[in-house]
Amino acid sequence: MTKNIFLSGIYHETHTFLSQPTTLNDFIINIGDDIIKENTGNGSPTDGFIEFASKKNWKIIPGIQMSARPSGTVDHEAEQYFDTTFFEKLDQHCKNIDAIFLILHGAMVSKNHDDFEGDFLEKINYFLKQKKIIIPIVAVLDLHANVSDKMIENTTCVYAYRKNPHSDSREAAIKATSILDDLFETPNVNQVNYQTKYILPPTGVGTANDPMKSILQEAKKIEQNDTNILCINVMAGYSYADIADCGFSLNCCTKGDVKAAKKYLASLATILESKINFAYPKENTLEEALVKIQSLPPLSKPILLIEPSDNIGGGTPGDATDLLSRLLQTDHDGIVAIINDPDAVRECHQNNVGDEIELNIGAKFDEYHGSPILLKAKIKKLSDGKFKLKNKQSHLASMMGMNINMGLSAVIKNEKLTLLLTSIKTPPMDLGQLISQDINPEDAKLIIIKAAVSHKDAYDSIASHSFYIDSQGLCTSNLNRLPFKKIGAKIIAID
Ligand SMILES: [Zn+2]
Repeated sequence: MTKNIFLSGIYHETHTFLSQPTTLNDFIINIGDDIIKENTGNGSPTDGFIEFASKKNWKIIPGIQMSARPSGTVDHEAEQYFDTTFFEKLDQHCKNIDAIFLILHGAMVSKNHDDFEGDFLEKINYFLKQKKIIIPIVAVLDLHANVSDKMIENTTCVYAYRKNPHSDSREAAIKATSILDDLFETPNVNQVNYQTKYILPPTGVGTANDPMKSILQEAKKIEQNDTNILCINVMAGYSYADIADCGFSLNCCTKGDVKAAKKYLASLATILESKINFAYPKENTLEEALVKIQSLPPLSKPILLIEPSDNIGGGTPGDATDLLSRLLQTDHDGIVAIINDPDAVRECHQNNVGDEIELNIGAKFDEYHGSPILLKAKIKKLSDGKFKLKNKQSHLASMMGMNINMGLSAVIKNEKLTLLLTSIKTPPMDLGQLISQDINPEDAKLIIIKAAVSHKDAYDSIASHSFYIDSQGLCTSNLNRLPFKKIGAKIIAID
């Protein structure tokens, strides 16, 4: 018999230290059939779900899906809009559905909910209980989710991405959907959540490196060796959320003994303990990096200067100037950078390609990301800022599918710098971003990358070296610089 699956989702990674809220306008919203229309074939987790469901001949009953780029706390209007629409739709269809499938991030904070997903899932459960409906609830989560006990208690199974950069987000959704399929046969499962005391900066949780690499390897072994285990999720957590549930956690869904599952998670936690030094990597000052660069032999490939403090994929505005302004004071040329600055773009668009223009660039979002740079340059390109991903499995596809919109954009160039200016901040996760604007990243000597890990699939292969640089910004890897209040005894740095 065919199954009717209610599909919805909300995707937001919330940086609670940013002063500007995330509003309803910041979200891409799809309701009803538009969810299927907009996502089919776009490489997103939703696309993965749709593919599996069609193969199974399931009927998808689409509710609401909202997603926004990482940014500040979600405001009341946006959380309310999602909640109201979701429960209207669920109320309309609940009598005829066999399961609920959700595409979530897992690190959303809204004005009224520190643990948005936990409270939302609890409300779904309460709603179903009132109606005496017992059906599985399965969710796919981002690897950076801050998983609360409430999220685990109110789902049948959650399944998280395994890779960071998230090249497997679509695959993870397919896996989560296949678990849902199994749950129709074997509905009796239990989940276990194991929170650790560690909050790790994004730079410490790439899956090509320890501690994530070793923990994931061991988790996979357990999944393969114990057929009772449906999945073990290794949750890096998202460090810029000042909430009680912030941090690294492990969770497991099992058909078997809960005690055995707990033991597995505890054993994985000891791997984290043994490799904890690697989770807090040290960064260079710009001066240190430049000394190292000077000692390198002549290179044919660019060098990446990674600027995690303005990691757009982590929520910051993408307009930090601290690193760029200091680099421009040196003799280096052949620099490529991207700054999000809608005002500067507008000024460029009031001129023509080839015109020389003088602009104040960047650091306009707040006072934590440097000062504007006064720049004289020639306009090389004006565009609508739309591009298609070069790599369909780019980390960006997990967030927004294949078609990306940077808003009106401009490229300006002077003797030292080629600068892409955007109007909608866009994480540097795919080479299509620069190439679509006629900038060949391989021609650069130095590329400034506003990211922590998510750029790696795109940029590591074209670069000779990369250096992580400590600079001003609210996605700093030095978590001691942030005014945490709600994390209790959790550890944010080690000596
Ligand atoms: Zn993530």
